[in-house]
Amino acid sequence: MIIKYKSFFTSIILLIASGFGFSSCTTVITSETRAFNLKYGKVIVKELTGAKCHTYIVNHTASHIIETNNYLIMQDTVQNWLYNTELKSYLESLEKPLDRIIISHGHIHHWAALEMFPDVPVYANSETIKEIHEWGGQMLKELRKRKGDDVIPYKKVIVPQNVIKPSEERIDGVLFRFIVPSQGFLSGIQYGNRVLFTELPEQKAIIHHHLAYIGLHFPPPPISARIEMLKQLKAENYNWVMAGHGIPLGSEFFDKAVAYYETAQKLIEESPDVKTAREKLIKAYPDYWGGLLDLLLPLHF
Ligand SMILES: [Zn+2]
Ligand SMILES: [Zn+2]
Repeated sequence: MIIKYKSFFTSIILLIASGFGFSSCTTVITSETRAFNLKYGKVIVKELTGAKCHTYIVNHTASHIIETNNYLIMQDTVQNWLYNTELKSYLESLEKPLDRIIISHGHIHHWAALEMFPDVPVYANSETIKEIHEWGGQMLKELRKRKGDDVIPYKKVIVPQNVIKPSEERIDGVLFRFIVPSQGFLSGIQYGNRVLFTELPEQKAIIHHHLAYIGLHFPPPPISARIEMLKQLKAENYNWVMAGHGIPLGSEFFDKAVAYYETAQKLIEESPDVKTAREKLIKAYPDYWGGLLDLLLPLHF
């Protein structure tokens, strides 16, 4: 069982990381007049009282930057070197120091590029630190082999030095609440399952992982448990919801995600096989990236 899920896990991170179909020359969507031209990814900015949330999205993977009065706090890097050069340029354009990087969980596409951000303190929960310490070398080697040294030139595994426990911390006036959900929604995998949710309770914003994504097909079991948690989170009335992949949205994130899962559940149940379920899902959500379906749908059959 572990072997099955290990290969499932390896495939899922590689598929997400390889991605395809990004728009070029996207201008930052921002309430500010200043525009920042991007070649590979796009940035979505949400201004909230006391903090601003920037999400850099490239190849379906997201890096979130919380801007306080004096600092930037970033959650996750993106994977490829080139995209991180763009992310770094964007950070520099904000003209505030990067105070820290928080790594949400152990999947390598979120932390491989840490050596591009030297001297920045890195934080993660204890499970993630342990996983990167124990498995990081192997993960990086596999990633470099698959993607090539030009795309992944990183030589070092940077193990986060600072432990985040479920707690609250005020950083430059902004309250952060760190949550480690008991259910990681990719249970059974060897690592990467103990994700960190980061909440800004005063701004009513949250960054979550592995729960639901807008803009890409992500229907692994257990769908019912996902729907239940999404409904619980909806009741929190968030102003801004950022996921580890796909686009951030306002409170409508949860209705959209629940609708997707209810549709997916129905289509999967009424399909005799993976191929039929895949066709039905693509037809129902033609704009969603379907790169993970061949991997995730068989888990239902
Ligand atoms: Zn992950
Ligand atoms: Zn991920």
